[in-house]
Amino acid sequence: MTELTINLGHLHHNYALIRQQLRSTTKMIAVVKANAYGLGSEKIAKTLVELGADWLAVAYVSEGIALRNAGIDTPIMVFYPQFEHLAQLIDYQLEPVLYSPSIIQEFSRQLNLKQVHDYPVHLKCNTGLNRIGLSPQEIISFFSSKNDSPFCVQTVYSHLGASENKRPCTFTQQQIDRFLTVKTSIEEITSTPPLFHLLNTSGVFNYPELHMDVVRTGIGLYGFANRADWNKNLTPIAELRTRIVQIHSLEKGDNVGYNLGFIAQRRTRIAVLPIGHADGITRQYGKGKGHFFLHGHAVPIVGQVCMDMLMIDVTDVPCQLHDPVVVFNTTHRADALAENAGTIAYELLTGLSPRLSRRYQ
Ligand SMILES: *Cc1c(COP(=O)(O)O)cnc(C)c1O
Repeated sequence: MTELTINLGHLHHNYALIRQQLRSTTKMIAVVKANAYGLGSEKIAKTLVELGADWLAVAYVSEGIALRNAGIDTPIMVFYPQFEHLAQLIDYQLEPVLYSPSIIQEFSRQLNLKQVHDYPVHLKCNTGLNRIGLSPQEIISFFSSKNDSPFCVQTVYSHLGASENKRPCTFTQQQIDRFLTVKTSIEEITSTPPLFHLLNTSGVFNYPELHMDVVRTGIGLYGFANRADWNKNLTPIAELRTRIVQIHSLEKGDNVGYNLGFIAQRRTRIAVLPIGHADGITRQYGKGKGHFFLHGHAVPIVGQVCMDMLMIDVTDVPCQLHDPVVVFNTTHRADALAENAGTIAYELLTGLSPRLSRRYQ
């Protein structure tokens, strides 16, 4: 009844479009964390490997292990490894991002115990997001005092906090300046510098002169880039459709759903859909915030979203039992739905629950 369809041809299109923005020497890290933004990491990761992604990236070690168990042997970066998973990370040949002096210390202790040398790692520099990362000074001293570390530093990177903001952006420029200073210092210290990178999807479009050696693209591969002019050549790869399971005719004053979330102001026809907050359509879409599409017409969600069901107002659109309803697709975009409910496509997509059946075409 309710089905999430993922179009791998569109994934190919988006991958090629992003590659076209890059110089031929710039590498791509394809970000497949959070179950490939909710769309199914195994199938999507395999497709991205076939398309030529240089690395895959996940957030946590367990996600990397799942990809290895699916038979993927491409380099996998782990953005946010936790101390207690470092041993497993080594067993599965995952590449950690080291983001604090204490995780550097612990990871080198573990490698030394196992007598492993030249283990591939990445260093994250905090340039102003203040989320996770070594300070510029800590990174520079890592290189100037680097002597017997068991690491082979593959890349050094930072992450912008407002890469989609209109240029010029003072905050972003400050982050860029800090990163370039780190890059220059490292290049002065070592004759074999690592690769450098700074940009996510929006950054690729907004800062073409800063693609550097590598870019990290997630949401763009799935068809979104956080601004209309960048969105227009990308194609959303996911379509979520459901069907009407029941229709009710209400009189003025009748209630719909829990907690008197909707009281009909006129004679109203409502349709019931088998999708709810347990599927990832959270309560923030309820009470008129979110619209779905019935025969091409926008129809509002009425009342509170329930766990397994929700109701839409179809008074103005002729319809019958089992008619299809589009939650989002290539034209009725997930980012627009999300925005009406005060959130972003990232949250809507990553919240799509495992209960939804996923079909790949
Ligand atoms: C998730 C993530 C990305 C991907 O960002 P998009 O906006 O989806 O392209 C890049 N870098 C880091 C560090 C991330 O955590």
